[in-house]
Amino acid sequence: MTTPPFATGTDKTVPDLDLIVREIAEEMRARPDRGEVASYIPELARADPTAFGIAVADADGHVAVGGDADVPFSIQSISKVFTLTLALGKVGDRLWKRVGREPSGSAFNSIVQLEAENGIPRNPFINAGAIAVTDVILSGHQPKEVLGEILRFMRFLADDPSISMDDAVAASEQRTGFRNRSLANYMKAFDVLENPVDYTLGVYFHHCALAMSCRQLALAGRFLAHGGRNPATGLSVVSPERARRINAIMMTCGHYDGSGEFAYRVGLPGKSGVGGGILAIAPRKASIAVWSPGLDASGNSHLGRIALEMLTQRLGWSVFG
Ligand code: GLN
Repeated sequence: MTTPPFATGTDKTVPDLDLIVREIAEEMRARPDRGEVASYIPELARADPTAFGIAVADADGHVAVGGDADVPFSIQSISKVFTLTLALGKVGDRLWKRVGREPSGSAFNSIVQLEAENGIPRNPFINAGAIAVTDVILSGHQPKEVLGEILRFMRFLADDPSISMDDAVAASEQRTGFRNRSLANYMKAFDVLENPVDYTLGVYFHHCALAMSCRQLALAGRFLAHGGRNPATGLSVVSPERARRINAIMMTCGHYDGSGEFAYRVGLPGKSGVGGGILAIAPRKASIAVWSPGLDASGNSHLGRIALEMLTQRLGWSVFG
């Protein structure tokens, strides 16, 4: 009798996970096609285009790593998963009065839909939506307090007190983020933002500037893979229902106008950032982080997506059966 090697069960039944992850990192390291490093935030242009990292945190507390898995990078829009989690914790379903949950089919920094839709952003993962979510977390607090709360949340989730925000990246975006300033001012005109635009943007630029490694990010995402609970501590972060719903939004909106292609090729909920990271969730199996700074035309990590496609194909991991 033969047992399918990778198709079922938890990672205990996947003896070759470490090997597969290391092999993928080696293959990615050698590839010539690497995409384009983001340069519209000048500080991000300094990233090494040859870097590649991957970390897979399984249900048993094991983390399989390959390549530059311990090198911190700018997580950028991946932070939007965690600010969405905090905002839902603070105001619950009232959040959906301020932001929608439909895929946008347009670029992450697009402004066109905002006018037609009365300043209500399509979803919490495009820039406009994430700025509105940040504004919700900020209300009733000072920007510094909220940044402290976000940082503590990330350190708690990853169980790693060394996680920090890169002030140089935040300052770089603060100097050049004219488009985000336009989005925020536009929403302010529709009363979608409650706080002074500069305060909301200051918090937004700083949480995008969280610096984390693939290992730290995979650990931070564990609650989404395990019904809202961190499997290492048993502590509940969100309800199982909320974890499912955050995953659903990652699946439909996590890669902007590349979300359909990501679902088709990788088959898991995922969230990308222009720093070249992607967090992907294999429900009941693993939280996965990959990083390669070169981006495709939609602003998603080129090799990161390819690496996730290889991983999920080799392991038979997909939410589509
Ligand atoms: N901080 C970036 C911006 O607002 C985040 C974009 C991204 O990672 N897609 O432009």
